[in-house]
Amino acid sequence: MRLIACTELVAGDVFQRADQAGDVITMTLVPRRIAELATHPRRCCCGLCAAARAVRPAHVYRVAAAGQWQIYATRARALR
Ligand SMILES: [Zn+2]
Repeated sequence: MRLIACTELVAGDVFQRADQAGDVITMTLVPRRIAELATHPRRCCCGLCAAARAVRPAHVYRVAAAGQWQIYATRARALR
């Protein structure tokens, strides 16, 4: 898998979980989730853990946080 695809995959996962939990995506939250994914067994087929081993937390953070701000802005507009 390409590194960009891995970053987007992990960012999507981080984003979804943060959204469900009502968490703000931070530079603390991202490495925690990456570490969690890295505990999957080597033979795991979810695809996320393999991607998590390849990505850089800073890249994932940038993509996930940008997505979150976009959603916040959309929701804020919808509430008006
Ligand atoms: Zn896995």
